Order: sequence, then C-alpha cells, then structure tokens
Amino acid sequence: MLRAFFVGLSENATLRSFAERSSLGNRFSSRFVAGTEISDAVRATQAINRGGMSVTIDNLGENVTNPDEARHSAQLYRQILDAIVANNLNANISLKLTHMGLDVDEKLAREIVSGLVAKAASMKPPSFVRVDMEGSPYTQRTLDFVHELHRMAGNANAVGTVIQAYLKRSESDIEKLLAERIRIRLCKGAYKEPPEIAFAAKSDVDANYVKLMKVLMKSGIYHGLATHDENIIRQAEAFARREKISPDSFEFQMLYGIRRDLQQSLVRHGWRVRVYIPFGSEWYPYFMRRLGERPANVFFVLRNFLRA
Ligand code: FAD
Repeated sequence: MLRAFFVGLSENATLRSFAERSSLGNRFSSRFVAGTEISDAVRATQAINRGGMSVTIDNLGENVTNPDEARHSAQLYRQILDAIVANNLNANISLKLTHMGLDVDEKLAREIVSGLVAKAASMKPPSFVRVDMEGSPYTQRTLDFVHELHRMAGNANAVGTVIQAYLKRSESDIEKLLAERIRIRLCKGAYKEPPEIAFAAKSDVDANYVKLMKVLMKSGIYHGLATHDENIIRQAEAFARREKISPDSFEFQMLYGIRRDLQQSLVRHGWRVRVYIPFGSEWYPYFMRRLGERPANVFFVLRNFLRA
C-alpha cells in the first residue's frame, strides 16, 4: 500500500514542481541522486570506478512535453558520452524514451536515440545505451523501438533494454529479445500495474524473477541482474557456480546509494557490479519511487536531514 501511495505521489505534478525547485527538496533527494550537473555524475562515477565497479549514468527526466525539451535531453546525453571518454570512465548510459520525446514526436525520438546509440557504438572503447523500461503503456513501444535500433548496422552491441519480472508477459518478451541476442537488464519493476497484467504478490514477482534470471544466465549473452534482494542474489551466485557460468559473463546492477555494503561485498567475492547513477534537476518521480520501495527510507532521509 505504501508503495502505491508513493508511486501515486511520484505522478503529482504540483508537488513535483514545488519539490524540484526547493533547496530543501534537493537536500532530501541527495540520498539517491548524485547531484544536478554532469560534473556531479562524473565525480560519483569516478568514486564508484575506484571501488572496482562500473556505472550506468542516467540523466533524470521523463515525459517531456515538447520537441525542444527532447532535443535538450539528447544534447545532455551527448555531453555525458563525451565526459565518459574525456575522463576515461568505466560507464555507459541509461535513458527513458519518454525523456527523448516518445510521446511528443516518435520520429524525433527515433532520430535522437539512434544518434546516441551510433555515438556510443563509435566510441573507443565502445559504450552502450540501455533503454530503461517505463510503465506498461510503454512496454510494447519500448521493445519495438529497441528491436529496431538493434537491427541497424553497427548497433548490435551498443543497445539493450530492461525487462520487469512483475509483468506476466515478460517470459515471452525475453524469448524474442534473446532470439536477436539483445542484452537485457532484469528488474522487478517500479510502477503501479493492474493485476490483470502484473503479479500482485511479492512472492510471485520474486519467483518469476528467479525463473527469468536463470534463463538469462544460461543464454550466453551478457545481461544485467538488477536487484538489491539478497536472497535472489545468493540464488544467482549459487546458480552460476552450479552451472559453471563465468563471473565475467553477467553483472549485478544496483542503484546509487542503496545497499553499498552488498555492492562492495559482491566485488570482493569476484562478481561484476554496475551502479546506476542518476543525476539532474528532475529528480522527483525517481526519488518518490525509491521512497516507496522501502518505508524505512522515509525515516532514513528525515533522520539524516535533521542531523545535518
Ligand atoms: P525489493 O524486494 O524491492 O527489495 C529487496 C531489498 O533491497 C529490500 O529489502 C531492501 O533491503 C533493498 N532495497 C530495495 N529497494 C530499496 C530502496 N529504494 N532503498 C533501500 N533499500 C532498498 N524499474 C523499472 O521499472 N524500470 C527500469 O528500467 C529499472 N531500472 C533499474 C535499474 C537498476 C540498476 C536497478 C537496481 C533497479 C531498476 N529498476 C527499474 C527498479 C526495480 O524495478 C525495483 O523497483 C527496485 O530495484 C527494487 O527492487 P529490488 O529488486 O531491489 O527488490
């Protein structure tokens, strides 16, 4: 219930505009957001890289409302790719199609994202664009988009997407992605979805995650297992050992500021870990979804704030 409450809050435009403009809001969000500027993301990435982990950088934003905003988002992502090269970062980028204008002008979004993928593919060393998955109205459109991008010449290793274990359709989506050798990030799913299309019980989501995770790990394609769920992570480790799956053939992925202890201990045990670093001024929906995932976060953020 609390999760649904915060997902509801994450969609509230009035609260969003108030929060993102207030310095108080910016202080609260710093628990999960690296800062507002590219230089903040670069600094955070360097620190994570020093800890033996790779990074994916996300410029926060979703649902732009006009082509200029979409072009501006694209420009920022180009600058991030340049910053990755200039600072020799072990990082790639994650983006949302609605941030690139999907709802405003699909043709423009296509141009923007294919340009970014082409730029990532041509970098030395080559980088990678992860297309994040949004709420279910975007699932099919996102998958179609990624299949199309992946088929373009030179893009095969430079673009991938995300599958949400809470959706009942995910097993069949994975089959189609694997048939084209498209890299997948598996997560549980962060949006509010109706029970007709999504598993409602956490135990069912977790069971589906583990089932899909095993399919990905056996596929011979490099995937990301995005979760902070220690129980699932232990099952992945045991499965890899049992099936003799090399630790270099997949990676765990976690969000910036969440379970840093677990991130570091996985690295110490020889597993690959990538940290998702979000930055930017449009942090409100992302931050609210994180609060809703764990009630203790609300108290954690408040306590740190009162201490400061
Ligand atoms: P949960 O069962 O939610 O949590 C397991 C344990 O992890 C909790 O008990 C707690 O100890 C810890 N934990 C989880 N969340 C938090 C938190 N916010 N704060 C503190 N501790 C926490 N979702 C999408 O829908 N689309 C995406 O494209 C997407 N990309 C993602 C990329 C990455 C790298 C990651 C890690 C997640 C992504 N997600 C995405 C979010 C994901 O769907 C889940 O909402 C989120 O990861 C919480 O699920 P969990 O697997 O950690 O398991």
